[in-house]
Amino acid sequence: MTVIAIDGPAGAGKSTVGRAVAARLGVGYLDTGAMYRAVTFGVLRRAIDPYDIAAVEQVAMSMDLDIRDVDGASVVIVDGEDATGDIRGREVTESVSAVAANSAVRAELVERQRSWIRSEGGGVVEGRDIGSVVFPDADLKLFVTASARVRAERRVAEIGGDVDDVEASIIERDRKDSSRADSPLVEASGATVVDTTGLSIEAVVDLVLDML
Ligand code: C5P
Repeated sequence: MTVIAIDGPAGAGKSTVGRAVAARLGVGYLDTGAMYRAVTFGVLRRAIDPYDIAAVEQVAMSMDLDIRDVDGASVVIVDGEDATGDIRGREVTESVSAVAANSAVRAELVERQRSWIRSEGGGVVEGRDIGSVVFPDADLKLFVTASARVRAERRVAEIGGDVDDVEASIIERDRKDSSRADSPLVEASGATVVDTTGLSIEAVVDLVLDML
């Protein structure tokens, strides 16, 4: 069973790299950020405060979550409702770090991630704590990063917006994700750091496939 762990800050190109690696290996790909976004979607749908520890935990425990990769994008169904578009929206993006700092939510999602790998017999998993916490014995661990400015520029090229605003929001999310007590964003021990600042994402994909 081969497990590839890809971690890194927001917008570093993890998904593009992860999907390309999964396609090359002929294995499945799991975007764990989409799982934290899905819980956040469920929380906001029920008008629950993202900082209400017990109520947010309840949402994560009871949520029926179906994530599958269709044509290079994660389609996310939350309690029967298609949340694919909404989980990328501003509201969810602003609240997701608070939900992801909830230890009970993390425990539940980590269990679902491990169970996904067991049922798939391996795969590529992307997130913030995959090499450090979820699969510390992964066969390959990558920490994909880039300067905040370049990450913001890439995001704007994809979905539009103002580069300064997007950069500020990326820096703030990274700060929260790196400073939380439970499973903060860190370079896992044994991870290979791939700085994509001066590279196109296609060049990064080639680099990682060469490493493999
Ligand atoms: O990868 P993406 O930017 O969609 O992740 C959204 C958020 O989910 C992150 O900012 C982080 O708060 C949380 N996350 C996490 N652990 C993971 C994946 C994502 O805490 N393994």
